[in-house]
Amino acid sequence: MTESIDYSVVLRMLQTAARLVRDNQSRLSKLDSFGGDGDHGITMARAMDRVEEVANADRPDTPAKDTTRIGSLLRDVGWGILGVDGGATGPLFGTFFTSMGDFIDAAGKEPLDTRGLAAAFNAGLEGVLKYTNARAGDKTMIDALEPAVCAVKETGDGGGKPAAALAAAAEAASRGAAATREMQARFGRAKNMGEKSVGNEDPGAASVALIFKGFADGAKSDG
Ligand code: ADP
Ligand code: MG
Repeated sequence: MTESIDYSVVLRMLQTAARLVRDNQSRLSKLDSFGGDGDHGITMARAMDRVEEVANADRPDTPAKDTTRIGSLLRDVGWGILGVDGGATGPLFGTFFTSMGDFIDAAGKEPLDTRGLAAAFNAGLEGVLKYTNARAGDKTMIDALEPAVCAVKETGDGGGKPAAALAAAAEAASRGAAATREMQARFGRAKNMGEKSVGNEDPGAASVALIFKGFADGAKSDG
């Protein structure tokens, strides 16, 4: 099992996540059709196009000054997603990746062990929490993201390996997304539905669960 997450593992994680989100595009749009405008799948698919473009591009073998290869990669992925128009998704998911990239460059340490991975994910979450006032329980992507990030930290604190941490994160995100079914939306378009928003999974949370499942699968495959 992978002891640390190096650049090539991050590439696989991104590519696997992008594939999985794309495979679920119609489900994501369907979830968004209950409380939103039904575009979440298409917007996420566009975001994943950007992820793949960046991940598949020729990139320098050595990092530029004051950067890391993983940090630059994640920042470029984030800026790609930020460039996707279509409402809430671009800034939320883009900020997650740019904040991780900035953090990893500032820390200047790669590959990432489990604690480094946890710290990077936490920086991503903090970036998102600066962008939005939504918090856990408001029926948004935060309800999947926060538990996923916590799971990586808990695994790292317990001495677990990165692949185990990502598997735990994928499970936590999936549970978090499922739990949004019982919640009433307090942010985003679904907020307008009031009590009627209860009963369906939040599409943004479903996307986060898919991304973390992709990360977990990408990190465990041998290439
Ligand atoms: P839009 O609502 O602009 O059409 P999408 O359909 O792509 O954007 O994404 C909707 C998802 O974005 C929601 O399911 C929710 O998870 C997330 N979201 C929307 N607004 C917010 C917000 N203010 N804070 C956190 N998450 C949000
Ligand atoms: Mg929408």
